[in-house]
Amino acid sequence: MAIRLFDSLTREVLELRPSDPDGVFRFYTCGPTVYAPAHIGNFRTFVINDVLRRLLELEFPGKVRHVRNLTDVDDRTIGQARLEKRPLAEITAKWTRLFHEDCAALNCLTPHVEPAATGHIREQVDMIDVLMRKGNAYRAADGSVYFKISSFPDYGSLSRIRERELKVTNSVFDADHKDDAGDFALWKAFKPEEDGDVHWPGPQGASEGRPGWHIECSAMIKKHLGDTIDLHSGGVDLLFPHHENEIAQSQCCNGATFSRHWFHSEHLLVDGSTMSKSKGNYYVLGDLVAKGYSPMAVRYALLAGHPRKQLNFTLDSLHAADSALHTLRAFEKALRPALEGPARGSPGPSGLFDEVLASLRSDLNLPAALGALFTAINSFDVRRASRADALALEVVKSALGFDLAEAAETGAPPEILGLARRRWDAKLARDFATADRLRAELSAAGWTMLDGKADFRLERSRKA
Ligand SMILES: [Zn+2]
Repeated sequence: MAIRLFDSLTREVLELRPSDPDGVFRFYTCGPTVYAPAHIGNFRTFVINDVLRRLLELEFPGKVRHVRNLTDVDDRTIGQARLEKRPLAEITAKWTRLFHEDCAALNCLTPHVEPAATGHIREQVDMIDVLMRKGNAYRAADGSVYFKISSFPDYGSLSRIRERELKVTNSVFDADHKDDAGDFALWKAFKPEEDGDVHWPGPQGASEGRPGWHIECSAMIKKHLGDTIDLHSGGVDLLFPHHENEIAQSQCCNGATFSRHWFHSEHLLVDGSTMSKSKGNYYVLGDLVAKGYSPMAVRYALLAGHPRKQLNFTLDSLHAADSALHTLRAFEKALRPALEGPARGSPGPSGLFDEVLASLRSDLNLPAALGALFTAINSFDVRRASRADALALEVVKSALGFDLAEAAETGAPPEILGLARRRWDAKLARDFATADRLRAELSAAGWTMLDGKADFRLERSRKA
């Protein structure tokens, strides 16, 4: 059974397949802007995309190429650097590190490539040059460059936004100097009072400055995945204008279909409303861990709703997630003898969790998958468990990214758990230099990692 997923462009549920004869599935996700900690709303998108990535890996083993970018130059990153009076690279490095630690604590797979916008200025400038040559972009009086949306008749096909709305919305994002209010910036001329010391040589005939936000994804996709990709994803807040603009830039520059499939996950609400610091319902992962919840419970709670519906997150839902994981852990423990002991139970493949995987393959229906998981567990007599049943549980755990290891329950803070997971992965990949370096980092932070056969434990180091 193939993976079928709703496509935001055609608004149909379509089968996911690689288009290239090499059989590689090319998958791009818009990544974080690294100027502050990512909040749990951001992480809803990232954990949903992680399940999608894991499902794709099951479907096309060794043939998935996942790229997720880091936005490390834009108004917000520059604003934060100026506020703290520190170099931009120092600010973005700090928040990138924390993002990686949170991702690891939530057991998200690392993308195969994680390009940063500042590392791809040349590629962005090259694309803007092409767009200017082809008549899709123009230089404004101040030396900025804008994309001319009237040059791309398909503009608006993803968001189906009407022209009137478009003018109002895009004009909020960009300054004056434009021919048309709907046009958006590809290159922003340097403004010393706003940009500090952040500037690069611009496209042909333009001023020094920095790229607009949208062009970075187009340029990094072209470089790392090619002109046409199989799947592009992100939160629904990116659908317009960001993804609409990516399509316009890439298709005009490359003369090819940009992405064959678009996937958007919906917003997270907390206690019934949009998260905001003033309402007191704003959480980052560390806040929830400080309240005593494990990152795995947070992952579970963020996965509990259908990706295309808004999900209401509450501390009660986190509590329920915690007890669901408890049940799952007990079940895994009960199945362990079947995995390790002599063969018993029925031979042949296990059909125990087929329904779970079928629900995931059917438009990533996570609530149905989790429902099927617990129906299977509750109706199963573990005394009859076969080795195949235990292996089927491993597959389902891996597809959902649930790490049931004891270490996830030690109360270690997420950054420590993240470090430990990265070290464990490095060890499995036989990258001993990285593993040793991470062990030293853990030790400096006061934690000891004890390696078992299939798992690790974390203990607080005894004070000398
Ligand atoms: Zn993007």
